[in-house]
Amino acid sequence: MVTTHNFGFPRIGAKRELKFALESYWKGQSSRDDLKVFGAQLRQRHWQNQSHLDLVPVGDFAFYDQVLDMSFTLGNLPERVHGYSGDQLDNYFRVARGRSAATAGGSDVAAGEMTKWFDTNYHYIVPEFTAATEFKLDASRLLEQLAEATAQGVNTKPVIIGPVTYLWLGKAKDDSSKLALLERLLPAYAELLEKLAVQGAEWVQIDEPVLVTELDADWQHAFNFAYHHLKSSRVKLLLATYFGTLQENLHLACNLPVAGLHLDAINARDEIQPLLNLLPSHKVLSLGVINGRNIWKTDLNATLDWLEPFAARLGERLWIAPSCSLLHVPVDLASEQKLDVEIKSWLAYALQKLDELKTLATALNNGRAAVATELAANQTAIAARRTSPRVTNPAVRAAIANINPALGQRKGPYPVRARKQAALLNLPLYPTTTIGSFPQTAEIRQARSQLKAGELNEAGYKAAMRAEIERSVREQEALGLDVLVHGEAERNDMVEYFGEQLDGYAFSQFGWVQSYGSRCVKPPILFGDISRPKAMTVDWIKYAQSLTSKPMKGMLTGPVTILNWSFVRDDQPRSVSCYQLALAIREEVQDLEKAGIRVIQIDEAALREGLPLRKFQWKQYLDWAVESFRITANGVADETQIHTHMCYSEFNDIIASIADMDADVITIETSRSDMELLDVFDDFKYPNEIGPGVYDIHSPNIPTQEHIVRLMKKAAERIPAERLWVNPDCGLKTRQWTEVIPALQNMVAAAKTLRGAA
Ligand code: GLN
Ligand code: ZN
Repeated sequence: MVTTHNFGFPRIGAKRELKFALESYWKGQSSRDDLKVFGAQLRQRHWQNQSHLDLVPVGDFAFYDQVLDMSFTLGNLPERVHGYSGDQLDNYFRVARGRSAATAGGSDVAAGEMTKWFDTNYHYIVPEFTAATEFKLDASRLLEQLAEATAQGVNTKPVIIGPVTYLWLGKAKDDSSKLALLERLLPAYAELLEKLAVQGAEWVQIDEPVLVTELDADWQHAFNFAYHHLKSSRVKLLLATYFGTLQENLHLACNLPVAGLHLDAINARDEIQPLLNLLPSHKVLSLGVINGRNIWKTDLNATLDWLEPFAARLGERLWIAPSCSLLHVPVDLASEQKLDVEIKSWLAYALQKLDELKTLATALNNGRAAVATELAANQTAIAARRTSPRVTNPAVRAAIANINPALGQRKGPYPVRARKQAALLNLPLYPTTTIGSFPQTAEIRQARSQLKAGELNEAGYKAAMRAEIERSVREQEALGLDVLVHGEAERNDMVEYFGEQLDGYAFSQFGWVQSYGSRCVKPPILFGDISRPKAMTVDWIKYAQSLTSKPMKGMLTGPVTILNWSFVRDDQPRSVSCYQLALAIREEVQDLEKAGIRVIQIDEAALREGLPLRKFQWKQYLDWAVESFRITANGVADETQIHTHMCYSEFNDIIASIADMDADVITIETSRSDMELLDVFDDFKYPNEIGPGVYDIHSPNIPTQEHIVRLMKKAAERIPAERLWVNPDCGLKTRQWTEVIPALQNMVAAAKTLRGAA
């Protein structure tokens, strides 16, 4: 008999209930006890949802983040919250979100740093270490939840983050060696496993996803050291790897002294066979056969075709599960009332994925005939998707086949273009601009919800947006900015806005996925070949340009960012979807140029995010990502100035690709790095223009003129002044006008000072 289990369930709730409960508590509208009771109810519901599995995860629920939970379990809290004497949950939120002096009635508590969880869009709170870090087990959360689940009759499998991955995820604040802490950390793990055993846990899932990344000898050794230390534990350990292939770590993973190993069979199917040859015969092999990272139905018959021989060979030793935690998918497809029925029939959210798992297990255990109806229905859906005319567009296919290097090539090299653009745009030294969005005011949001509710018609909505655009143009003229933007009033979101207007995209109502804490994203669903039925931004930008004699910047989201922030197709490579997006946005760029727009910005905020987990795969990704950008941007005359914008990025290891994008101007987020981020551009001799952000738009603080001048002087030590722009770090949509105006006044004044001094 094959065993079914799950790694983790999306804790935010089918209708984002956890988000609302958290935010209500944070606003003081509900009590801590209300929140705790709510958490317990949510866990209960989710355990019930999974009750048909042989083993159900416990400990995957977190009020904010599972890594932060682990830090609390291990007693590893940042020094700045050590003296805290209040409630544990409040302390947890202090680390998660920070506390300003005003509300804490004392000194500021900085929030823990957040970073991306492997190659997903989930962000975790980075554990902090110093050479002096000590660990002290606090198993209360896990033990309580285990007791809760056991009392409800759940077949439990506690889930924890493994010691090596835990250290790897963290940051040594004093640059000491994180690995030196392993010896001190392991007793806490041993004690935790013992406590779980005492409370009746038979299996414990111990997550070590770093095994799918390149590990140097020290880290590999740490694995051996750690798991030999934990070998005598009375629970059986299921060592979980996911998100990728084991490659050179395969041998290591197979031979660690644990009772079972989980492999992501979606990403590492080719490793099953070699793994079987190495895996000691007493070990369980768990295969992740349902994709935990996308929203498509699994082809169950095809899966059984390759899975059945392994099942025959492994017998009881085979377990099956989703490839990774279902944290990365929405909860329940049944919530979707408005989704196109045909497209809906191709999808599976978490609950549907667990049903698929059950069907596979029944087929393996009792033969396919036992689930003939389910398999036939699945086959129908899979075939319908494959052959649907809505998925394939012959004209798009032909255009993709005709892509050639000339498409990505500007006519003249940068120096020639720069001269022509300067003659036409006539900008001063240190030109000023902003990144695109201006405050999304209450009026804007109200107009949008009225439009949705049918209380405002298209014409009324358009008039309201035009009024906002006019307001932002007037403000920018009064501020004396050099290159203006329209302010993006009409855009709900920089990806959704374009997805809604492109053919090949669908939108869900409840396709929410946790991004961090209470924040969720609802990635649009890219299901078919992408085309652009008509211009998407030209009317708005033309209108904005008509209001001013200053250059108006056209504003677009780039193909790589649209791709990386969508649920994408699994029936073609990501590169092909990206090229399709590139061709569609290219048409928009050319239409803007035809409409007389001289400066066009193509945002690629998420370019870096798409980097694969293993370095050897980087070049391939960067090649098609950069080529997609070039196809999008480079179909214009030399006189048209192309900008790109990237925030949240490090450039050290991708600078050659950034230069290869060949945008005339790149604006980046730099203010928090004190311009040091520019060193790599300097060292690389980056040839084009750069706008290093001079103030952090995430903060309500108003930057002073002196501060901006000082930052730009630092920038000018690295990049010649003739190639520098002055702009904020990112768009201003989350700020108030009352913050934006004084900040930009200081920015414009700083540019004038710099010009005077030059
Ligand atoms: N143009 C976008 C804006 O200003 C860019 C946002 C981003 O880079 N995340 O809002
Ligand atoms: Zn940005």
